[in-house]
Amino acid sequence: MKLTVLGTSAAYAEAGRACSGYLISDGKTKILLDLGSGVLSNLQRHMNISDLNAIFISHTHPDHFLDIYGMRYLLEYDLKPERPLSVFGPKGLKETIISLQPESKAVFENLFEFNEISEENKIKIKDFEISTSKAKHPLPTLMYSVRSEGKNIFYTADTGAFKGLQEIVKGSDLLLCEATYLKSASPSDVHLRTNDIAEFAQAAGISKVVLTHFWPGTDRLRSKFEVEQSFDGEVTIANENDVLNV
Ligand SMILES: [Zn+2]
Ligand SMILES: [Zn+2]
Repeated sequence: MKLTVLGTSAAYAEAGRACSGYLISDGKTKILLDLGSGVLSNLQRHMNISDLNAIFISHTHPDHFLDIYGMRYLLEYDLKPERPLSVFGPKGLKETIISLQPESKAVFENLFEFNEISEENKIKIKDFEISTSKAKHPLPTLMYSVRSEGKNIFYTADTGAFKGLQEIVKGSDLLLCEATYLKSASPSDVHLRTNDIAEFAQAAGISKVVLTHFWPGTDRLRSKFEVEQSFDGEVTIANENDVLNV
């Protein structure tokens, strides 16, 4: 599988960057995890949007889905696809998206096939098997595990540390992990600090962690250094348009 990083900023896009978005491809199947602001622009550098098989939204915080509105216009006026594009996400996703443009409800329903899924679900998209788990975040948030060709990428979405997280991520070949805060931040129920990441990734025996979802302005090298202090695996900093092989 190939993981293409499309956006790595938490909350708002840092200068020259984008909010959350990741393209996962095995050559034949292409899915998008999250569609934050700036992601649609970067996505077009890497693929024809008509080849996209499905979009998976982790939750309805704006930094994870706002470019769905740009996607609407791209599909409606330029691509004009014959079939709706599948969009998966937590309960309430469709209502939240349409609430900004209620006059276009029918347009959204024609362009997108919304699938609201529970926190313990398995979905098959061609060769990909995607399973969900519940993150610790203030609103319904899904973590996604994507499996293909015997390999698996685990995306934490936004989450605070919780008991059981290490069991959930165990066995992942690549852990795409939110790294909102440095160790010096106060403990958070909503996001991870570098020391939280090191602790559960080490306990889970993960060999490869890719850090993303940095608060704008965060010294990313410092984040990497802090995770490496108590984690024996490989630590990579995600940057926009990086392509990683799994
Ligand atoms: Zn976020
Ligand atoms: Zn969030």
